[in-house]
Amino acid sequence: MPLAVSSPSTSEDAALADLLKKLKNYPVGSDLKERELQAVYDYLITKDPKPEHWFCDETPSTLVPEAAAFSLRLHAYNGVQANKWKKVLAEIVSKCSACAQGMEDRLLDCQVT
Ligand SMILES: [Zn+2]
Repeated sequence: MPLAVSSPSTSEDAALADLLKKLKNYPVGSDLKERELQAVYDYLITKDPKPEHWFCDETPSTLVPEAAAFSLRLHAYNGVQANKWKKVLAEIVSKCSACAQGMEDRLLDCQVT
């Protein structure tokens, strides 16, 4: 009997959860380490299959809305990856009104100082 393939996403998820917890304590506007932003980006954009919902109840994991909310900081960035992220985000909110609403809520959260 073959061994069950352990899901590689488990340790990845745990690592991301740790990272997000840490990043939450960063004051808004503080410089992010590129590597940390990259991890969040990878989780949302290059993961396979990548999540099709970021902010609503249909997200595959509770980490997705956390990561997505954090990734909203990418709005301030330019470059190939940031532009790809903006495109994916636009697609997601155009397909799902609950995600669009969820993003609005997250944006409001971010702006409260
Ligand atoms: Zn959705």
